[in-house]
Amino acid sequence: MELQELARDIYACLQPDRGLGTSNSGLLNRDGGLVVDTFWDLPHTRQMIKTYARVWKAPARRVVNTHRNGDHCWGNQLFPNAEIIGHRLCAAEFGKERPEFMQTLRNGGTSSDPVLAAFARRLADWDFTGIELRPPTTLVDERLTLDVDGIEARLIYVGPAHTSGDLIVHLPAERVVFTGDILFRLCTPIGWEGTYDRWIAALDRIVALEPDVVVPGHGPLCGVEGPREMKAYLQYVRGEAKRFFEKGLSTLEAAKRIDLGPYAGWTEPERVVFQVDRAYRELRSEPFDAPVDVTALFGAMYELASQQRH
Ligand SMILES: [Zn+2]
Repeated sequence: MELQELARDIYACLQPDRGLGTSNSGLLNRDGGLVVDTFWDLPHTRQMIKTYARVWKAPARRVVNTHRNGDHCWGNQLFPNAEIIGHRLCAAEFGKERPEFMQTLRNGGTSSDPVLAAFARRLADWDFTGIELRPPTTLVDERLTLDVDGIEARLIYVGPAHTSGDLIVHLPAERVVFTGDILFRLCTPIGWEGTYDRWIAALDRIVALEPDVVVPGHGPLCGVEGPREMKAYLQYVRGEAKRFFEKGLSTLEAAKRIDLGPYAGWTEPERVVFQVDRAYRELRSEPFDAPVDVTALFGAMYELASQQRH
């Protein structure tokens, strides 16, 4: 875990991208402190708190959750006195993922099902015990501007893109944007509730803010080349998926045929399955929040990853 100073009193706590769950966080170190996103489990969030303790006087009194995925908010309880801020739909859908269920998956290493056993191996670094969900209670609709003792922080709603309740945090004077999972950098995105158009619009929005530093939800810091490249990826995959949809191929068959070219080196390229499936759902005119068949898609990802290795 690495602490980076981005501007005066502005920090990022970056986890090296090792795939699933290794997200990033931010700190505005004034006015009692404001943290942007906690981590996936209590041990990693404790380590984040230790990292921030090198620069803060006391634990932050405000936490912003960019969205509802556990790797951005399951450490909230370690800020027991903090005000938790998030989008209304982030709060409403906070319980969609369950720590107990993740812990069961994490402990499934001896499962005879190869998909479950492989998934358990990828979760081995995490410990989801003891997590109590603490959803936001200060709710954002379109936007909320905070004055953090002279740092203007604009919380802007850009969903439904990666999830229904996506917020980005823009610091106009410091030219910094914390994107949450609107941006995955050098790392293949995975999306839940949302549309291609809204996700691409959200990436355009980040570019239009002209930041000098972009803190992605996953992966290393970047500039506007980050959101530009991810937009190109989404457009490319959507186009390829449409072509294969019209030929009648299944999600997995289409994903196997897509030549990832420059994106093949991004972490977890097999997540393209999720993008293809989203494109298929849109081509079938399903609603943006139609249930995703997670078990089937993780199974397809497993098969695709086995093929990519050979
Ligand atoms: Zn994430």
